[in-house]
Amino acid sequence: MYRCQLCNVVQPPRTRRVNVTIESRPTEYPSRPKANRLRVGRKWKQFDDPGGAGFEIAKEAAACPTCAKAHEEKRLADEAAGIYNDLPASEESATL
Ligand SMILES: [Zn+2]
Repeated sequence: MYRCQLCNVVQPPRTRRVNVTIESRPTEYPSRPKANRLRVGRKWKQFDDPGGAGFEIAKEAAACPTCAKAHEEKRLADEAAGIYNDLPASEESATL
C-alpha cells in the first residue's frame, strides 16, 4: 500500500509501484585515470575511465501503473515533438 505521488490516491495492497522520473539534469563526469583493473594474460592492468556527459535523475516520484503509463505516453509525445533535443556537445559529436 502506498500513495501515488502523481494522483495522490492510496493504492490497494499488492499494486506495483513504478518510479517515474519527474526531472532530469545534464551532468558531466570527469575522466578517472587508472579506474578500471582488467586481467590481461597473467597480469592485472589498469585502464583509464574516459568520463563523459549525459543526464541524471534530479527528481523521482512513486506512481501507480496507470499514472506511470500516462506519464510515459506524455513523455514520448514530448520527445516526438522535439523537446528533449538538447544533447550535450560531446554526445552530439559522437553520434555524427
Ligand atoms: Zn496514480
